[in-house]
Amino acid sequence: MARIVMKFGGTSVGDIDRIKNVANRVKREVDAGNQVAVVLSAMSGVTNQLVAWCNQMAKLPDPREYDTVVATGEQVTIGLLAIGLQELGLEARSWCGWQIPIRSNGVHGKARIESIDTARMSAAMAAGQVAVVAGFQAVGPDERISTLGRGGSDTSAVALAAALGADRCDIYTDVDGIYTTDPRIVTKARKLHRITYEEMLELASVGAKVLQTRSVEMAMKHRVRVQVLSSFEDKPGTLVCDEDEIVEKELVSGIAYSRDETKVTLTRVPDRPGVAASIFGPLAEASVNVDMIVQNVSEDGRFTDLTFTVSHSDLERAREVLNAAKPDLGFEALSDDPAVVKVSVIGVGMRSHAGIAQKMFQTLAEEGINIQVISTSEIKISVLIAEKYTELALRALHTAYGLDAA
Ligand code: ADP
Ligand code: ASP
Ligand code: MG
Repeated sequence: MARIVMKFGGTSVGDIDRIKNVANRVKREVDAGNQVAVVLSAMSGVTNQLVAWCNQMAKLPDPREYDTVVATGEQVTIGLLAIGLQELGLEARSWCGWQIPIRSNGVHGKARIESIDTARMSAAMAAGQVAVVAGFQAVGPDERISTLGRGGSDTSAVALAAALGADRCDIYTDVDGIYTTDPRIVTKARKLHRITYEEMLELASVGAKVLQTRSVEMAMKHRVRVQVLSSFEDKPGTLVCDEDEIVEKELVSGIAYSRDETKVTLTRVPDRPGVAASIFGPLAEASVNVDMIVQNVSEDGRFTDLTFTVSHSDLERAREVLNAAKPDLGFEALSDDPAVVKVSVIGVGMRSHAGIAQKMFQTLAEEGINIQVISTSEIKISVLIAEKYTELALRALHTAYGLDAA
């Protein structure tokens, strides 16, 4: 008998028929003799609607109340699935994050899971009950509901699998696996049978939203066997695993993009030691994540322009923090441009092969696409370009790196 965690995303629970389909899939695993915990997202579109409502109430809604609102989508689907499983003759119950409890650090809107007390849930599962768990939710030290950031149900699933010592964590979604790039944009994207934790971590962190970044971090740390597969078709999916389980190694394993970037520019910042610290320190304190950074020194050498990117949801807070510090920082103006996209190429082969970055720059140049910011890490190169070139850039790079499906 195995213990498994099955996670279903928003599209997979998008309406009543789909929730019934999920119930049937869960029943198959139970009938095969497995102990099952199911983690669910809200119905597709619901979380977006809840977020939009909060933003219509206030420019910067109270993060605790924001979490109270956006966590509700998952409560609906878990209750419905528990009813559906009972209709199929199974024992099942729903669990909200606070009922388990799943404890977080309490950073509202992007909380991290700190511990899960699985004792009660585990006992119920051992007694034959299917546990249907709300993804995305946890409870913070303030005893209030906190949410794990967009796409956070993946992390709920992997964290639960680790805490339960599960044999598998199966992530069911609306594509049948992990591809070389988003198959909805590049039709020639190729499905990967296996991918390393490390590569998936990079892909996720630069925008391949098929798995939330923290879920991959957690899987890597606790060595959870994660599989991504279709909730609509019976097909083998993609296994996320260790490097030594992978036979064929490619120089470039994937390409990702993120539209969730806003370019912020501070012009004419006095150029003196400590200026970067005085800008990025207060942003970090306000939990604003800064991603790419470039600094240009002005002609007379006394001033500098600083450009960096933040996610759309952090922009308002970043603006507030920087405007409040403007008298100290002494910059002239703050401007922002949301019409940008970050495109990244990932591959462990970059450690040992030169020329991979050059191929990216060359390919984009040939398509007439201007690069605004560049950043690199050991196995990744990212560029910021105008958003209107997203599809063109992805397709051209996919072909240039020889990733197109035959
Ligand atoms: P869910 O609601 O099931 O969590 P998501 O929308 O969060 O699903 O993630 C699945 C989506 O991720 C796919 O529909 C696809 O468009 C996108 N995606 C982006 N990059 C990739 C990739 N490399 N492989 C597969 N899917 C990807
Ligand atoms: N419902 C949440 C979201 O849309 C969490 C998730 O689906 O993973 O972000
Ligand atoms: Mg998701």
